[in-house]
Amino acid sequence: KKEELKRLVVSEVKTGDGRKVKVYSNIGFPEEVEIALKNGAEGIGLFRTEFLFMNRNSPPSEDEQFTAYKYVLEKMKGKPVIIRTLDIGGDKNISYLNIENELNPFLGYRAIRLCLNNKELFKTQLKALLRASVYGNLKIMFPMITTANEVKQAKEILQEARDELKKKGIDLCDKIEVGIMIETPAAALASDILADEVDFFSIGTNDLIQYTLAIDRTNEKVSYLYDPLNLSVLRLIKMTVDNAHKKGKEVGVCGEMASDEKAVPVLIGIGVDELSVNPSKILRVKKKIENTNYISEKEKLEEYLLGN
Ligand code: PEP
Ligand code: MG
Repeated sequence: KKEELKRLVVSEVKTGDGRKVKVYSNIGFPEEVEIALKNGAEGIGLFRTEFLFMNRNSPPSEDEQFTAYKYVLEKMKGKPVIIRTLDIGGDKNISYLNIENELNPFLGYRAIRLCLNNKELFKTQLKALLRASVYGNLKIMFPMITTANEVKQAKEILQEARDELKKKGIDLCDKIEVGIMIETPAAALASDILADEVDFFSIGTNDLIQYTLAIDRTNEKVSYLYDPLNLSVLRLIKMTVDNAHKKGKEVGVCGEMASDEKAVPVLIGIGVDELSVNPSKILRVKKKIENTNYISEKEKLEEYLLGN
């Protein structure tokens, strides 16, 4: 048993019929990277950077952010690290940003919308990320995308940040992959077009399920309706994966669904390339992948998606 655990920590895993699925870790603060590694993470699939901005009176400086991002990149020693830009608003408030109370915060001023409207705040984070890029394998990811125009704007600001740092003679990685989260039905439905704008997708099922099924993810009265295996949800995920693969782009899943025992075989059948889960779930997910048969899951899924 102990030997088996050790093997799963060090090894990459394949399904019973030989399809490789990467298992990455979600982290919420830099020190968590140690736990992720101890549990066999092959990369960081989602570093939620909100923690840096919460419980304080002003935003963190570029240097403070740089130190946090560099720490994670160095600890991961060249393994992929996907860092998500600020995702606040919705249920996560930050006093110093003076976000007004909204009737529908999850449909309101949050994440990329807030960042595109607070250009300096956003650019400061992007500069910290760019400066940290030379310490490992950084990938930058934008949350809550609904249109290609938002992606273009975000990439423009990233380019400005890059130009400003270069002008100062600061050393940066020349090629940094940029990806987006697919967590709105709009993004899934436009995933063929969005795939042309980015290097990878990561599906945020926590929000994608919420928005597809019109169920507030924080409202316990309707939580019984929150179903990751719902037909419409699975159709959107499948569409996203197929569209990305047609353009040669990889797709991960970083919502809670990626560690749900029942959902993992389904996601494998859909063809996702990577699952990113909480550190405590990594070994269980690796085991589950080994016990799954890709082809038979794919066939079952195709029937299900037809409504059979
Ligand atoms: C998601 O929506 O699935 C996700 C991973 O992002 P968060 O839970 O931080 O909204
Ligand atoms: Mg989300």
